Amino acid sequence: MCDSFTETSSSAVVAWGRYSDLKPAEIDRILAQSRIAYVPWGALEWHSAHAPIGLDSVKAEGICCALAQETGGVVLPAIPLATNTIKPFKGFPHSIEISAGLITKLAEEICLQLADEGFRIIILFTGHYPPEQIDALKAGARSARTKIDTASFEVWADNDFLKGGSFKADHAGAYETSYQMYFRPGSVETANLPDRKVTLDDDGITGEDPREASEERGAKQLALLLGNAVPLVNKWIEELDDNK
Ligand SMILES: [Zn+2]
Repeated sequence: MCDSFTETSSSAVVAWGRYSDLKPAEIDRILAQSRIAYVPWGALEWHSAHAPIGLDSVKAEGICCALAQETGGVVLPAIPLATNTIKPFKGFPHSIEISAGLITKLAEEICLQLADEGFRIIILFTGHYPPEQIDALKAGARSARTKIDTASFEVWADNDFLKGGSFKADHAGAYETSYQMYFRPGSVETANLPDRKVTLDDDGITGEDPREASEERGAKQLALLLGNAVPLVNKWIEELDDNK
């Protein structure tokens, strides 16, 4: 679902692509139309028995590709490094915990490098959204702002864009699991879950039961997010154009 240079419903060609798949001339072509870089930020973290540990990366990357198809720009590979994972929080295994300081430093350097490459709107979009992760990323973006003024940097998370809908963000519950099903059909096995009510302490799950998840719900969640986020990006693009 992530082919470059797709056509929008209005038939205008939107130049976008996955950064790591692009050749130099293709990057130049996108930059000529859109100077937006989306940086999906994920995690390697226990998402209970039914879902892969890379769920946050899959979710963030899928959302960023969908945004870029609307607004243009490039989507970097998801960075699967997160702080305050469910390992220190609740002791679940198969989680790689990274220090907040390293997340901040990495966020700052990626922002500065993308600005150096000519991008002017840089969005760090995190699928892992405890306050510690958001704070670490925001500290990196803040630090980048003090060093360069040719680009602007923001930190967004998917749970910032639930307004107007009835969905509630969770950890490995019906919300996140629906995104996993939508972006990676066939990758969820709810049969692995125990035959009882699931809990945070026993299963590492918050929110609605993941057995309520579906691909269709994932599509609806994405449509809601795009409806809330795309106008913000377009406004940002207009402001940028006004300040040229
Ligand atoms: Zn998650």
